[in-house]
Amino acid sequence: MDGAVNVSLQVAQVRASDVASRADARYRGAYVHVPFCRHKCHYCDFYSFVDSEHREEAFVQRLEQELESAVPFLTQPLETVFVGGGTPTMLGAPLLGRMLNSIARILPVARDAEWSVEANPETVDHATADVLASAGVRRVSVGAQSFTPKLLKALERDHDPRSVGRAITMLRNSGIPQVNLDLIFGIPGSTLDDWRRDLAATLELAPDHISAYGLVYEPNTPLTVKLRQGVVTRLPEDDEAEQYEYVIAELARAGYERYEISSWALPGKTCQHNILYWENADWWGFGPSASAHGAGIRWKNVPRLATWLECGPSSPVQDVESLDANGRVGEAFMMGLRMTRGMPRERVDSLLGATAEGAHRRQLIAGHIDGGLLEEHHGFLRLTPRGFMIADSVLAGLI
Ligand code: SF4
Repeated sequence: MDGAVNVSLQVAQVRASDVASRADARYRGAYVHVPFCRHKCHYCDFYSFVDSEHREEAFVQRLEQELESAVPFLTQPLETVFVGGGTPTMLGAPLLGRMLNSIARILPVARDAEWSVEANPETVDHATADVLASAGVRRVSVGAQSFTPKLLKALERDHDPRSVGRAITMLRNSGIPQVNLDLIFGIPGSTLDDWRRDLAATLELAPDHISAYGLVYEPNTPLTVKLRQGVVTRLPEDDEAEQYEYVIAELARAGYERYEISSWALPGKTCQHNILYWENADWWGFGPSASAHGAGIRWKNVPRLATWLECGPSSPVQDVESLDANGRVGEAFMMGLRMTRGMPRERVDSLLGATAEGAHRRQLIAGHIDGGLLEEHHGFLRLTPRGFMIADSVLAGLI
């Protein structure tokens, strides 16, 4: 990325607390990464694995130390806590409960903070759902991806589509107020009819929030290897675009408001933690491979459980990157314009400033407005529906 400056530190010796002490940040959220899964899906490039060594308890114990080590830097109540992975519900009810209680006890979490936890449908049972609810979790995000067995197979997802409905019922019965479903379109071998049926099955469950992503072939995943070997065939672009257009129209018809490129919510049910990312706010990341951002510096905890377990209390980090002023402006556009409401015009003007880079971006923005890809709307600059269809290329130009 333009404007990125790698911080010259001996990475092996750098801890999150070393980086944070150089950033004058106001952390508003916490992300906790639980790296365990019951099965590794073939498209997934998150740091997660099937743990044959049973290190879940050691993970939670080590996490408690890491939480303590960050407290001196967390100077205001945290507005959001997001526990993701991996599959946090893999920990099972007792350990999951201990982890959530430790987060609440150690970190300065605001009383009305939004707590979100990710779950694999097959790992939700009554005990897990009760633990989540009694810990005050407000949102549970369930990885459904598809309800069509052949498409789940194409992704090497290891769950029965019926388990999604069962999980949602248990979560609701336990008192979890909001549920998100994750979906993927553009899966090899999928048709528009498959996608129609997947969305109909989704709407029958009436989730509060839906995240629908086009399949990404991440480098070095088994799915991408199969693509290279010709074992799977990428869905033609037009077919994927048709599925994308369908989800936009169908969810609007069903009363969901699209508030970000891939995110839809019933009124009042947006995900505050994700909004915090898109607003480029500061958050702290816990657990192996968790990313963090503080005042323009980004870093990532070491993505290796064994190293993370051994080296405490603050996690060793890598990929420490400090953005210069121009880089921060580019990033603010890239994140802020992902949201359908766009960015307030005053913020756009103050970001563009009077620099040469600002003049260049101003020209690009004017060109995109003329071309119908960006528009001014009630004091905000935002992508148009056509701009959203090719958001990646519009935003890339503004970085
Ligand atoms: S369950 Fe989620 S985190 Fe785990 S391998 Fe599958 S996609 Fe990745």
